[in-house]
Amino acid sequence: MKIPVVVGDCNGCCYCIMACPVGAAGPINPKKVIAEKCTGCGKCVNVCPKAAREMREQG
Ligand code: SF4
Ligand code: SF4
Repeated sequence: MKIPVVVGDCNGCCYCIMACPVGAAGPINPKKVIAEKCTGCGKCVNVCPKAAREMREQG
């Protein structure tokens, strides 16, 4: 399964954290993703104004 990683220039807006329906983006640091919780929905990627997030295969 693919999960998001922050590869671009994150501005710290935390929109990704607010967009995540399961609390897997962040929840404190937007550059972290809780892989065990993430469903791979991509909502955090779509909402990012900096296009800083990218879906990548785990591991
Ligand atoms: S939405 Fe994008 S720019 Fe904003 S905190 Fe998340 S990764 Fe960073
Ligand atoms: S892909 Fe979906 S479930 Fe995973 S961190 Fe982003 S918004 Fe949350």
